[in-house]
Amino acid sequence: MEHATSVPTGNYPAPGLVEPFPDLTPPSSTPGIRVGVLRESGKYSLIACESARAGAQLFLVDGEPTREASRYSVQVATHMHLDISDGIGLEEMLDSCYWRFMNHSCEPNARIEDQQVIAITDIGAGKEITFHYNTTESNMAEPFDCRCGSENCAGYIAGFSAATAGERERLRPWLARHLLPADAAPPGDVRGPATSVAAGAATEVAGP
Ligand SMILES: [Zn+2]
Repeated sequence: MEHATSVPTGNYPAPGLVEPFPDLTPPSSTPGIRVGVLRESGKYSLIACESARAGAQLFLVDGEPTREASRYSVQVATHMHLDISDGIGLEEMLDSCYWRFMNHSCEPNARIEDQQVIAITDIGAGKEITFHYNTTESNMAEPFDCRCGSENCAGYIAGFSAATAGERERLRPWLARHLLPADAAPPGDVRGPATSVAAGAATEVAGP
């Protein structure tokens, strides 16, 4: 991972120690919306069960912090991915890890900031919730060819580090914090008091 990130003072690891998982922005008190997982023609998708306005927090991504990306993990910091736990059953996955059914779109209607999934556009009830995988992942564990047909289709989705300069610029408004250049934190980017959620502590998730 070659992307620079700003590590808070005092959070640097001592020599020989593994860098600790960072504290993420505490979730807002907004409860989020109800979502559901749809399986149709062998393909899963995550569906909004109620409408949401652009900018609304939809739900939280919460899982097992790891340092390695997997097929289903979401990168939430430079050296941190949230993954589903080994051996998790389908029932539990549907209840607490439904976020992993969010599909990629080159014209997404959501973005991810730390653990928060935030609507980019107004999303109607019954619509699929998607995000652009290159807005969170530095390097995809399993790159793939996107065939969404959008005029902005990025084609081969392999992570932000593999994106063209033009694509990076297009994705900039939706980028997760760890992919933004260090000097380009969005205005009004104020963090709340540090609350550790990195250790896999139970976090309230507005689920289905
Ligand atoms: Zn595409």
